[in-house]
Amino acid sequence: MNNKHNRRDFLKLGSVALAAGATGLGASAAVAAVAGAGESAAVSSGTKADLPKAKGPRLVVVGGGTSGLTIAKYAKKEYPKFDVVLVEKRDMYASCFSSNLWYAGLVNLEFLADHSFLDAAVNNNYIYFNATVTGLDRTGRKLITNKGEIDYDYLVVAPGIDYDYEKIGVKDPETMTAVRQTWPGGFTQSTEHVTIHRKVREFEGGLFLQSVPSGNYRCLPAPYERACMIAAVIKKNKLKGKVLILDANPEITIKAPGFHAAFDELYKGIIEWRPSSPITGVDAAKKQVHTDVDSISFDEAAIYPNVRGAVLIEQLGLMADSSHSNQKEAYIDTRFNNFIGDERVYVTGDSRNQPYSKSANTSNTEGHNVAKVLAARAQGKDPAWVAPETICYSMVNADPMEAISVDAGYDYDPEKDLITGFSKATKVYNERSAARGVATLEWARGIYRDVFKA
Ligand SMILES: Cc1cc2nc3c(=O)[nH]c(=O)nc-3n(C[C@H](O)[C@H](O)[C@H](O)COP(=O)(O)OP(=O)(O)OC[C@H]3O[C@@H](n4cnc5c(N)ncnc54)[C@H](O)[C@@H]3O)c2cc1C
Repeated sequence: MNNKHNRRDFLKLGSVALAAGATGLGASAAVAAVAGAGESAAVSSGTKADLPKAKGPRLVVVGGGTSGLTIAKYAKKEYPKFDVVLVEKRDMYASCFSSNLWYAGLVNLEFLADHSFLDAAVNNNYIYFNATVTGLDRTGRKLITNKGEIDYDYLVVAPGIDYDYEKIGVKDPETMTAVRQTWPGGFTQSTEHVTIHRKVREFEGGLFLQSVPSGNYRCLPAPYERACMIAAVIKKNKLKGKVLILDANPEITIKAPGFHAAFDELYKGIIEWRPSSPITGVDAAKKQVHTDVDSISFDEAAIYPNVRGAVLIEQLGLMADSSHSNQKEAYIDTRFNNFIGDERVYVTGDSRNQPYSKSANTSNTEGHNVAKVLAARAQGKDPAWVAPETICYSMVNADPMEAISVDAGYDYDPEKDLITGFSKATKVYNERSAARGVATLEWARGIYRDVFKA
């Protein structure tokens, strides 16, 4: 929970960037480049990206997920003089959130993916630049992409998360690749969701393993929600199968009474929940996971490893020292998200190191506030801080659709410069209801509308 920064840590951070140089990334304290980017870059160093001349202070936003899309739209609304460029490596959008509902047939693929980066840009008067970020020169205020360099006045980096397989004892690249490709976690790219969707539809019985990692992983309730959705398919198809939730945590991490009630009342004999059972290794050939006490054979699995801030954050020299967080997250101001010591560069969304829930609603509401911070600073004003809000629905029943939910705020301690956790106003709705089932879909539609429409 501690993300307080001090001068000692700042000095340590300098050594992160220098260490990058020492490991062959060719980085200095202010210039960092992605390893190997030199070979794959489509343009030579110094080439400018093919973009119109900036008509105002240029705000470059990296990452077209919930966070980046929100900031690209709302920074322009807050301060129309901004010339906004969204740099996103994907050319097709599909949301991570709501993917569990797709597995159970409650929504179709269009629900997740019928949203266009082009439309978002046209509707909201910014540029969508389909490119991959490969480096950053903070001194020269240049962002380096595989399609050339972009000068910026302000930069927001919102690249989401990456997995940390080492924390579940998967260390050699061969096993890591096998596990990642064969039993993906389903918490990053959309291609993982397509694979899990196929696995659920083709499941003929046996044991479907869903693991839950330790730490501040992306979307706390989602692995439990997914277990419910897979169990609903098993129940509907009358299969001889069960879902084993192998949980690294001693208790369900959020909305515990609501999930326990669903497991006991809707999925007795179909869902088994095993607490305090972190995965310590995977034997891909034998289709087994190891824990401290035993080895478990599975027929199908979605192995969710620990998470960390996107590797890009580290490669750009924007990562926190591990004293702030054991998850390799960004080194940023607690309230305003700027990189410590540089008010031109911000890190937002699930790469942040504040102890917020890593969720779309958090990224969206944080994004609204960061847009205001950028607009204020571009006009020489002092920004205000508004805590993000985590509204999160979890579908626990598929027929009829019923959900539980949480609505959480956060408290800030100015003395310690810390986010101390959920605010007292936080409400948890553990009684599943059809009204909350409908609200689950409405919530997702609201996020799509907020970031893609005008
Ligand atoms: C199964 C599942 C269920 C979920 N359910 C919910 C829910 O019910 N409610 C909720 O609030 N949240 C939910 N979430 C969480 C939510 O989806 C994420 O927390 C949120 O979308 C994070 O937004 P982000 O912008 O930080 O990251 P992302 O959405 O991951 O976006 C990061 C973007 O950066 C881009 N990028 C990365 N590297 C580069 C690069 N080098 N160059 C250019 N672009 C780059 C990526 O392509 C990506 O588009 C769920 C997630 C999952 C996986």
